[in-house]
Amino acid sequence: MPKIEQCDRCLFYSRSVHVICSIHPYGVEGNECLDFRENPNLQAEDRELWAPQGYSWYGDELVSHAPPRYTPEQQLELLDTHPFFTGICPQCGHKFDRDNLPRVHWDCPSCGWMDDTIH
Ligand SMILES: [Zn+2]
Repeated sequence: MPKIEQCDRCLFYSRSVHVICSIHPYGVEGNECLDFRENPNLQAEDRELWAPQGYSWYGDELVSHAPPRYTPEQQLELLDTHPFFTGICPQCGHKFDRDNLPRVHWDCPSCGWMDDTIH
């Protein structure tokens, strides 16, 4: 009787070619062993897949933990309020000159509102 799939993760598995485990030296019938005890040490090792800092594995995919720069809500708010999209200062309502729009920094010449969103 060969070892079953569970044996690799089992506390009792002997890792010997001659004896399968201390409880069932010749293996068990079927695909499941009633005496299977998950080996906690082995499991921890399996889980420790190396990944770059800030990343971890989800299945085969390396996923970043870093939060996106803006949440969807913040992005929507940006679309609603930023003068780049509205042409109006969010603080004082100053209307930017549409014929002479700033290209990078939308600092308000009227109230001094500082554009710190897009650099
Ligand atoms: Zn302003």
